[in-house]
Amino acid sequence: MEKEPEEIIASDYDVIVVGAGPSGCEAALAAARAGAQTLCLSINLDMVGYPTATPVLVDDSDDRRHALLAELDGFGAELPGLLHTDGISGRDGVAGRVLVDRRRLGLAWKEQLESEEGLALRQALVTSLIPGKSGWKLETKLREHFTARAVVVAAGTFLNGRVIDAGETSPGGRWAEIPANYLAKCLQMQDIKLVDIWARTSPRLSSRGIDEKLLGDPRLRRDGEQLGEVLAFTLETDGNRTGQLQALRQNKGLTQAWITRPSYSILHLGLAAEQAGKNLEVIGKPGLFFAGRAAGSCNYTEAAALGFIAGINAAHRAGHGAASQPLSFSNTLVGQLLNRVAHKDIRPVTVRIDDESGC
Ligand SMILES: Cc1cc2nc3c(=O)[nH]c(=O)nc-3n(C[C@H](O)[C@H](O)[C@H](O)COP(=O)(O)OP(=O)(O)OC[C@H]3O[C@@H](n4cnc5c(N)ncnc54)[C@H](O)[C@@H]3O)c2cc1C
Repeated sequence: MEKEPEEIIASDYDVIVVGAGPSGCEAALAAARAGAQTLCLSINLDMVGYPTATPVLVDDSDDRRHALLAELDGFGAELPGLLHTDGISGRDGVAGRVLVDRRRLGLAWKEQLESEEGLALRQALVTSLIPGKSGWKLETKLREHFTARAVVVAAGTFLNGRVIDAGETSPGGRWAEIPANYLAKCLQMQDIKLVDIWARTSPRLSSRGIDEKLLGDPRLRRDGEQLGEVLAFTLETDGNRTGQLQALRQNKGLTQAWITRPSYSILHLGLAAEQAGKNLEVIGKPGLFFAGRAAGSCNYTEAAALGFIAGINAAHRAGHGAASQPLSFSNTLVGQLLNRVAHKDIRPVTVRIDDESGC
């Protein structure tokens, strides 16, 4: 006899992670490795671990993300090892710059999650997250119900995400992806304070319209070896496509440039500093953790760092493994990042540079 779906799919977990960007991936792996039965739910399983905007994970030799990655390696996080996998990361003419092949990195994350013992990965849009008897109750858009002792919200730029494109604002978690509006509303209705956070990505150009000599220019980055697209890294443009193209064509060697993907901005909600506990647990909401961009961090590496810490602490809250010790992070960039998430009102926060004001 055919089984009812409820009998096939477990619905009660130690830890549920909402989102599978770098923060969700690290959180899910860390929780499962601590012994917690873990479920990771994400809107689109083709986008697992995918670097949203840029193939540049570390800018140059002075970028403190080198040190952050070394710390994460020491703590046992996944990202540093993935970056050493053949074909995923590379270097270019700029000393210390780390570039990734975004598609390969995404696939590598997905393979790790799929092969981890005690971890299930599923495609679903989480629409509701409310306290239950011994933890948290989640509902998805397809009316599935799950419970967990602890939950990590690693929803990236999707909470009430709004794409700003050629002066118009429309709902979107990233360009052409659905936002997580119900979840944002549900969190706000529980008096969890969320604040607006902004990000912008540079345009991508066809490599065909670019003077060959310019392809080695530090402002232009090939976006994956197999593709004919180039990210115009520091050549920020604004406005509609025509305006962006005109601005780009002012640059030497780009007079024939052609935009394949215009630049766009995104505005989304993330946890307010006053609501963030030191171990990424939401103040006054035991068992609820935030990580990555949804917790107010700036970039891919920092999102992974926060995900790793949130995953360990969520597993601990669910009765598995030891909590991460804030003391062991003193004098580390991870500690500084956690501190800024909990105390710095202006979002996003970063430790990429010494200056506290920039992202
Ligand atoms: C326009 C733009 C420009 C950016 N520029 C840069 C940059 O230059 N450099 C940089 O390092 N970073 C940049 N970022 C930030 C980038 O988002 C982060 O670096 C990194 O991807 C954040 O990781 P994350 O895991 O927190 O979130 P994301 O990578 O955004 O992942 C979030 C995941 O959560 C899932 N999700 C969301 N809501 C739900 C839900 N309700 N139910 C189930 N799943 C859900 C999504 O499907 C997604 O997979 C930019 C982002 C955008 C959108």
